[in-house]
Amino acid sequence: MVPTKRERALNRVARLREGISDFLEVRTTIRTGFDVVDETLVRRQRILEALGGTEKEWNDWRWQLANRVRDIDTLVKLIDLEARDLGEIDRVSRKYRWAVSPYYLSLIDFSDRFSPVRLQSIPLIAELHVRGGVDDPMDEEYTNPAGAITRRYPDRLTIYASNMCPTYCRHCQRRRLIGQRDRHTTWRKLEESIEYIRDCSEIRDVLITGGDPLTRTDSDLERLVSSIRSIGHVEIIRIGTRAPVTMPQRVTPGLARTLARYQPVYVNTQFNHPLEITPESAEACRLLADAGIPLGNQMVLLNGINDRCSVVKVLNQELLRIRVKPYYIFHAKEVKGTRHFVTSVDKGIEIMEFLRGYTSGLAIPTYVINAPHGHGKTPIYPNYVLSRGPDFITIRTWENRVFRYPNRREVDIRQF
Ligand SMILES: *Cc1c(COP(=O)(O)O)cnc(C)c1O
Repeated sequence: MVPTKRERALNRVARLREGISDFLEVRTTIRTGFDVVDETLVRRQRILEALGGTEKEWNDWRWQLANRVRDIDTLVKLIDLEARDLGEIDRVSRKYRWAVSPYYLSLIDFSDRFSPVRLQSIPLIAELHVRGGVDDPMDEEYTNPAGAITRRYPDRLTIYASNMCPTYCRHCQRRRLIGQRDRHTTWRKLEESIEYIRDCSEIRDVLITGGDPLTRTDSDLERLVSSIRSIGHVEIIRIGTRAPVTMPQRVTPGLARTLARYQPVYVNTQFNHPLEITPESAEACRLLADAGIPLGNQMVLLNGINDRCSVVKVLNQELLRIRVKPYYIFHAKEVKGTRHFVTSVDKGIEIMEFLRGYTSGLAIPTYVINAPHGHGKTPIYPNYVLSRGPDFITIRTWENRVFRYPNRREVDIRQF
């Protein structure tokens, strides 16, 4: 008997469901910040008591920033550390600075030496032991035509607004700029940058970056964003910030309103693990999205943190739920002191292969490698074009089906 159309559809559905059964099983073991709110709350209480803060202060970003934990003596009061960890953190901190916002610290399960949030924020001895990498792999120092600008592309550039961050990510690509002191970029330098943009009529996209620009006050940000907006040829303004992840209290209704006055404004952030998706970070994203600010995510692929297909899939699906579009997956750069986070490129390609077809196209970012010496972001794809001839190409689908597909010459539409 030949199967009916409906029977064929049902067969295909059964195979499709079978195709993600492994993932559905693993899915239940990957927790988001929403799944661990109770544990997080207990840790928050302990941190608040030790720091002598109130619930109201906890929700104030100025308190979070002022109370960043940055020395061992404070850290041991807030969490239980093994003696071995103390010595190691101390050794690393002689060479590389560290600081964690109380909020981000409260997300760490310290019973797990390799908790994804801990690895991103607390020094690990590997920073000293794993050799290799350079301070400035992208030669940013050589692509600074004026003020606080980095320019590597024809129509867009970045302005560096501060070297300060709520949390100094252990994988930071601009580690060389953190130094030992927090410094906002001076207005003289910012004004010089704005003049440069005013003079370059081809610049249509300005990206404010850092450090974290959201360590600056609302009025500083308004002054900067409004000056950029006053340049007629600037079409879009983007802000690159990890504040929604490491200090979501920074995103207040007032900040969202301020930014929304200078639309179109885009915010790109960096969630690297589902545990970072918490009620607080979701609320920060909601405030921005409700103000009409589109949100994107720039994940960094990090060894031991998110170098698993299912973790990345869950992260991207959860991001869509909080209205953040996965935009990029960055291959980790060869930065001195962060080499232990670098994965193989094969891992990144495997992750991309695992996403396409298996989940919403919206949940699929572009995997990019920053070419050496600041030659730009270069997309890396699994190979879906097996061969390319003048009349046909051969394609491979997400399910590994191979098809020959016509490579047509266009008819001349103007002949009709
Ligand atoms: C990443 C980056 C941009 C923005 O690149 P997009 O691919 O447009 O997101 C612009 N300028 C510099 C210097 C950059 O590093």
